[in-house]
Amino acid sequence: MRPQKNQLIFFRNNFPFTEIVEEYFMMVKYVVVGGGIAGVTCVETLSSLCPEEEILLVTASPLIKAITNYKKITKTLEDFDVEERSIISLQSECVNVKVIQKSLHSLNAKSHVIKLSDGEEVHYQKLCLCTGGRPKLITDNNPYVLGIRDTESVKEFQKRLSKARRIMVVGNGGIATELIYEVEGCEVVWAIKDRSISSTFVDPGAGEFFMSELNKKKETREEAPSKRLKYTVEDVETESSKSTAMGGALGPDWSAELSMTGTQKISHCVTVEKCVEVRNVLAREEFVSSGKSSTDLSGNVDQDCWPVYVELTNDKVYGCDLLVSATGVVPNTSPVLTGNQFTLAEDGGIRVDDKMRTSEDDVYAAGDVCTASWEPAQHWLQMRLWSQARQMGAYAGQSMVADFNSQPISLDFCFEVFAHVTKFFNHKVILLGKFNAQGLGSDYEILLRVTKGSEYVKVVLRDGRMEGAVLIGETDLEETFENLILNQIDLTPFKDDLLDPNIDIEDFFD
Ligand code: FAD
Repeated sequence: MRPQKNQLIFFRNNFPFTEIVEEYFMMVKYVVVGGGIAGVTCVETLSSLCPEEEILLVTASPLIKAITNYKKITKTLEDFDVEERSIISLQSECVNVKVIQKSLHSLNAKSHVIKLSDGEEVHYQKLCLCTGGRPKLITDNNPYVLGIRDTESVKEFQKRLSKARRIMVVGNGGIATELIYEVEGCEVVWAIKDRSISSTFVDPGAGEFFMSELNKKKETREEAPSKRLKYTVEDVETESSKSTAMGGALGPDWSAELSMTGTQKISHCVTVEKCVEVRNVLAREEFVSSGKSSTDLSGNVDQDCWPVYVELTNDKVYGCDLLVSATGVVPNTSPVLTGNQFTLAEDGGIRVDDKMRTSEDDVYAAGDVCTASWEPAQHWLQMRLWSQARQMGAYAGQSMVADFNSQPISLDFCFEVFAHVTKFFNHKVILLGKFNAQGLGSDYEILLRVTKGSEYVKVVLRDGRMEGAVLIGETDLEETFENLILNQIDLTPFKDDLLDPNIDIEDFFD
């Protein structure tokens, strides 16, 4: 199969060589698949490390994700904005990068060939898979069940919400938490399988801290600290909308400045159903013939008619206009599994070693599609977050080049301590190390400082040493705590003073 005319123009020593490409199969040294944060960071890294080489980015989405305003807050904590940009802007910033907007159809790892959606083949020497993930839906092919992943799915959600009186949100992670904060003008039933809210990120104590924020009136945009990021929801027919591939996942502040309003004249109206899962999603006719009765938000029999009814494992049935399934992601591996020998992790991700290499020669993976399978540092863990997608994409690029040049490379420092900054219910949230005592069994103790409505500080100690921390609010403790996690000082003598607000612990440990 020969490539289409004029599809690719590569530059070598500033001379375009389109002719060669048209005459023979397409051979590119470095190929990256996926225009999300991981893929774009990977090609940017490759481009800066090898300005003389041609680099190809294949992505199903017409817009790519670009990181801007990158700043390091501490050694491992980083903050940045994410913008959706056109393919052209990436090509003009990185002149040796060519972007093709097509879907990856299949991979023959033995022959080092990828096949694209139109049958075109590209031979690579090193390939990095950054195909992200797709929402794990509680039920497939139900028109009333939505997952949120990319700008297209948010647009669909906004449209459906604008006609809704009541929705149900299922899931207890970051997306669910952000939705609960943002949605107004609509009753919301939040169904979680845990005993406390937002438990993917925070412990029950912090969940309680947020509970009191649930039905508060949302700050107006003028009152709220300025939000970042502008996502464009464009009406373009995308390669991803034509195929099963999705666009890039949304990132920080994805929900800001998007109207998320239902039809009711109410602000926040959230009911939390704890320790439940969805047993059944019933169409109206199924509900009527089942003889069951549904409940309104006060627990009374609901007299209204709804297009869909959700039965929970606590036997309650809620009628609603829409159900949002925010129950995690499934790594997007489908195009590459057939005919190859990738080792997959239990969560379905492609296993990668400490150089982001998969089990197939010369194939690397980064971001949500992969599962870190090296022996992690004591205070690091993988979570499918934009910060880690960026770090993995950059490190995969470095590793591809190092391998090609047979140079040694050691695991990047960012994989030393887990560090994440986000915002829940308009409070800054910083998570460090084993912030939820992950993997520590019962062998740890907790120190707490809570000021209702403004601050929640939790420290996880084991044998007197700091293993992790949750910092909610403007605590200014992140740098000191990160150091204490890294240097593992025995804090036993200082335990009583560590969270004393009258002691400047920064000075203390200087
Ligand atoms: P993706 O962004 O999913 O990119 C995958 C890319 O691969 C896309 O461009 C897609 O079009 C392309 N692709 C897929 N299949 C193919 C194919 N067959 N052929 C060609 N191209 C293909 N993280 C945080 O840290 N903080 C947050 O506040 C936060 N909020 C989030 C809110 C939402 C609604 C969502 C969905 C995610 C959120 N995340 C957040 C998670 C974060 O966005 C992801 O972890 C991160 O963006 C993953 O980046 P990625 O590059 O690995 O994958």
